[in-house]
Amino acid sequence: MERDCLIAHGVSMVISERMMLSSDPYEVQVCRQCDLLGYHNYKSGISTCSMCKKSGHNMCTIKLPYATKLLFQELQSMNIVLRLKLTEA
Ligand SMILES: [Zn+2]
Repeated sequence: MERDCLIAHGVSMVISERMMLSSDPYEVQVCRQCDLLGYHNYKSGISTCSMCKKSGHNMCTIKLPYATKLLFQELQSMNIVLRLKLTEA
């Protein structure tokens, strides 16, 4: 049973490493009010939600694989909106 737990833990860590570290980690801004992806203006240093036009404290920065961010945006272009429900860790 202990062997099975170690294997299961190892598999989840390998998947996490392959998806988040060896792949292409990317920082995205998520609006806490509407749970959609926003954008960060590096020139002014302000993150803004393009849907509800909020900025500052309503935005949260998380790391995702770039392919995931691209999938979210492509689905959004087809009017399929995925929302990221964030909880405090
Ligand atoms: Zn928003």
